[in-house]
This record gives sequence, structure tokens and C-alpha cells, in this order.
Amino acid sequence: MRVRRGGKPEMHTCKICKQSSRSDYLKSGKRLKAYSVCLKCDFWLTVYGYACQGYETNEGYRLLVIDGRAYVSCPASQPGEAVGLKMDYILLDDTGQNTFTANNVWSLGEVGYYFRDLIEDNAKFANPRFTMHPYKYPAGAYR
Ligand SMILES: [Zn+2]
Repeated sequence: MRVRRGGKPEMHTCKICKQSSRSDYLKSGKRLKAYSVCLKCDFWLTVYGYACQGYETNEGYRLLVIDGRAYVSCPASQPGEAVGLKMDYILLDDTGQNTFTANNVWSLGEVGYYFRDLIEDNAKFANPRFTMHPYKYPAGAYR
């Protein structure tokens, strides 16, 4: 974020959530202002882009949406790299109901309020008692 000396930061209104958003974020500010979106909506638009591509990339990333929360399964990490959580999951559209194991999963958080109809659940935990979010936010906590 650009350091400003005095004065108020440049702002614009997000056309999706109608929240006021800063326009001077260092790398993304120009894009946010050009598209009239806030940082949160910009993030979920990016995630929605992955959903539109079939929830997977050619680089081995897989977007998992379970109970309204999004996770990204990254390619298996190399020694010395940061390692995400291990998770067993089943894809909802897998007719064989195979269990996949991922060892480098990162939580993206609860799907943004304005994107819940667009970014749909595509998986479930293989162990129904397993949860990656023990401190669940109340419904509608994030808009
Ligand atoms: Zn927004």
C-alpha cells in the first residue's frame, strides 16, 4: 500500500458489495478502481474464475468448496517448502465416490456473500467428522 503523508486515501465504491474501497493498494489498486470492485470481491472474482475453468488448473491446483468454504489443493510440496494441511475428500460429481488425499491444502475462507450462488460446493470431506474450520463463523458473518 502506498504511504501517503496526510490527506485521505483515494476511495471508490465496489459495484458488487457497495462497500467503499481504497484505490491506492500498491499493485491491485488500479485494477480495483478500473473494475470498481473492492479487495474482497476482487479475490472472490479470481476464485470464481477458477470455478468457471472447472475447479482445476493444468498446474495441479484444485479448488475445493465444502459446506460453503473454499480451499485450494496445491501440488505436493517439495522438502523445505511450506506445507499446507492434509485432507481426504470426495468430489461430489465423482460417480465412483473415490477418496482423494491432498497434503498441501490451504483455506481461502468462507465464500464471499455475493458469490455463494456462483461458487458452489464441489466436494465433501471423506470423514464427515473431519473439519478444517473449528471456529466457524455464524451464517452471514461476512458480506
Ligand atoms: Zn466488494
